[in-house]
Amino acid sequence: MQNILPDKYKNLPKEEVFERIRVLKEKLGDKVFILAHHYQRDSVYQFADATGDSLKLSMLARDNKTADYIIFCGVHFMAETADIVNNGQRVVTLPDATAGCPMADSAKDKDVRRVWDEITNILVDETICPITYINCYASLKAFCGEHGGTICTSTNALDVVTWGLSKYDKVFFFPDQHLGRNISKIYGVPRDRILQIYHRRPGLGVSHEELRRAKVILWDGMCPVHDRFMIKDIEEAREKDPEINVLVHPEVPEEVAAASDFMGSTEFIIKKIEAAAAGSKWLVATEVHLVGRLAKQHPDKDIKLLGKPICMCSMMDRTTPEHLLWNLESIADENVVNQVSVDKSIIKNSKLALNRMFEITKLKDEPKLYFEKSASEVSSD
Ligand code: SF4
Repeated sequence: MQNILPDKYKNLPKEEVFERIRVLKEKLGDKVFILAHHYQRDSVYQFADATGDSLKLSMLARDNKTADYIIFCGVHFMAETADIVNNGQRVVTLPDATAGCPMADSAKDKDVRRVWDEITNILVDETICPITYINCYASLKAFCGEHGGTICTSTNALDVVTWGLSKYDKVFFFPDQHLGRNISKIYGVPRDRILQIYHRRPGLGVSHEELRRAKVILWDGMCPVHDRFMIKDIEEAREKDPEINVLVHPEVPEEVAAASDFMGSTEFIIKKIEAAAAGSKWLVATEVHLVGRLAKQHPDKDIKLLGKPICMCSMMDRTTPEHLLWNLESIADENVVNQVSVDKSIIKNSKLALNRMFEITKLKDEPKLYFEKSASEVSSD
């Protein structure tokens, strides 16, 4: 399978690429359903039939009844999830097959299974619920299904952790330590009972006593984009302008989350900005494409990315309009490229874990606010 963009697409004028995409979309009609994650660049995002975060997009992939093809403008684990939930009814493609996720890469199947064995061999008398953030390989979704656990997204993480802790003695959360820590703290787990393990260190870098005491055990992965946000940027911004509102995604480090005014999922961030008063000022800690789009869509509000580093997901940015055009042409020619197909042997348990998540959240997809400072501390104008 060829998965590198052919040369013939590389130097086309932008307007020609856009026009050819428009023509193909028109020709293929309902046969193709294009999904785009909020972190996609605008030049791709404009062609989406539906946009959203990973939960919303996986539900849309599951519920679509007309398309033969789902083109997923996002990263690999998202296309895998779309393939799992639609029962092989549709061909799922990823326009750039090399678009992965460093957070998902931080938790390899063999490492998670080894760590699980180490933990369960020590905690023989306790029950442990494995919960994976949806940003992981399909085989780890299956691992959670196999072991009575489930999956969460940034939207439903609190509901899912609440479910896990109500049924089991402990939760083993991976791959995103920041999301796991921020959500566990909101749930009310004491800070000294949230334990960070280090999967490459002997003994996982923790004592047996610490493992026994823990309520939540965290993998040592993170999103390199959200991990870059720093508390000093919040402090400097507030010093210059005490009225500024700081709105963060739950994948940020805990000290950044604690210093923010609001913390919520991607969909919550969008809704919060939409509902904000004209003239209000916002520093947003999430991926730069989304923040830039929000600033363009709401010129009556002052919306900026928190801090100086450009927090861009280079993996999400890999998909270009040229990739989308190539993908559409391959479908029109019935010689589809970049299909993402999850091995049948892991679909069953991955679905089990996903269906548990859908059941826990009762298909709720409302934007989730996790954290808000008291009204007296938050500027509303
Ligand atoms: S923003 Fe972070 S978690 Fe999302 S795809 Fe990029 S690296 Fe992965």
